[in-house]
Amino acid sequence: MANWHKLRKRIHLICFLIFLALPFLNVVRFDIPKERFYFAGYELWINEFAIIFFVLMFLMFLVVASSVFYGRVYCGYACPQMIFSEASVAIETWLRKRVVKSFPQWKPPARERAARTLFYAVLAAASVFLAFIFICYFVEPRDLFRRLTSFDVHTAAGISGAAVTLVTFLDFTLVRQRFCTTVCPYGYLQGLLGDGNTLLVHYRDEEHACIECKKCVRVCPMEIDIRVSPFQIECIHCAECVDACGEIMARLKKPNLIHYAWGEKGELLADTTPRPWYRRVGLRDGKRVVVLLVLLFYASGLFVALGMRRAVLVQVAPVRATLYRLDPEGNIYNIFRYRIANRGSQPAEVIFSIQHLPGATLRLAPNPARLKPGESVAGDFEIMRPAGRRDELVSHFTILTSTAPGQESDAIPMTFLAPSEDK
Ligand code: SF4
Ligand code: SF4
Repeated sequence: MANWHKLRKRIHLICFLIFLALPFLNVVRFDIPKERFYFAGYELWINEFAIIFFVLMFLMFLVVASSVFYGRVYCGYACPQMIFSEASVAIETWLRKRVVKSFPQWKPPARERAARTLFYAVLAAASVFLAFIFICYFVEPRDLFRRLTSFDVHTAAGISGAAVTLVTFLDFTLVRQRFCTTVCPYGYLQGLLGDGNTLLVHYRDEEHACIECKKCVRVCPMEIDIRVSPFQIECIHCAECVDACGEIMARLKKPNLIHYAWGEKGELLADTTPRPWYRRVGLRDGKRVVVLLVLLFYASGLFVALGMRRAVLVQVAPVRATLYRLDPEGNIYNIFRYRIANRGSQPAEVIFSIQHLPGATLRLAPNPARLKPGESVAGDFEIMRPAGRRDELVSHFTILTSTAPGQESDAIPMTFLAPSEDK
């Protein structure tokens, strides 16, 4: 007999560890002060918004695809709100039992007060910790720790930390699973995404074997009766009721009445009848094949885009506030503005040169420009054409940039403006 409770608690622990690790390993993190988005080891700059948007859409589509296949599996197994709500209920229950056991001589109201005080103290410490981890998704962890230890409640990070701590504390003392049926839109969205082949928890009792013990209702974290309908908005498909009924019915040597099933009428997940692997994993119709293909296409596109992304971004534009400048010898100067951003993790070097502008010299120091990882520089440089070379008012030429490491080069088309001969 499957033990969904044990499996779920193990997955909760894994998800919790992932939640702790993600910001420290830069797997997913949006560093607001630095204006950087970290994804799968890539450091994306805010000006790479197209890729950031693509990443966010991919993550959203992943959740949607999982809902089409496996219903509210995210709610029951991976949602932080559910994981921490259940953990706070478990801690509260455990503390209550410990107080009763340790102080049997105390009156019940005194024991209740002691248990609640202890619970609030534990939850306050946990809220500070969870808020710290949460804010680490938006502020560099070492910087945040420094602010926390200096009791910074003046800067945006400090104020956010204090606010998130308070919200976390109130959430896991007062709101808990009520959040899922009031504020969270995902449960309602699931009703639109699921169909007759989506995995759900279903009560099937053709032989009227239910003994009305109501254990399935007592264990339900959402306090509902699965026998009413498999489509109740509160049901997070956690399968606690599956375990509960299985245990009761096993004692009576009868089959379980509550199961994971592929849709209301589909076969049971536990059904051992041989069938192709793709049906067993939920690939049960053309719609799911299309969803999977779109997901794979999306993932490949995303990783190609990330792979093609240039670590060093070089931009050059003419400054046309002054069309040109003449010095006393009659040499002509045009001003250009450059911006270099080293978005990689290694030092970079960019060399500028010019092509198709005979006799011209580029006045940029230092050239090559050297940048540390994460550094960006901007500035102006001049291109000078010597006097006597006024063959054209507008000369088309190219600025060449050569970047190391990566040996990437760019040819940027540009124009050089000169005064007319009669000036
Ligand atoms: S646990 Fe099973 S037998 Fe008991 S009330 Fe629920 S469905 Fe009926
Ligand atoms: S009805 Fe069953 S599957 Fe649904 S939330 Fe309650 S215990 Fe979980």
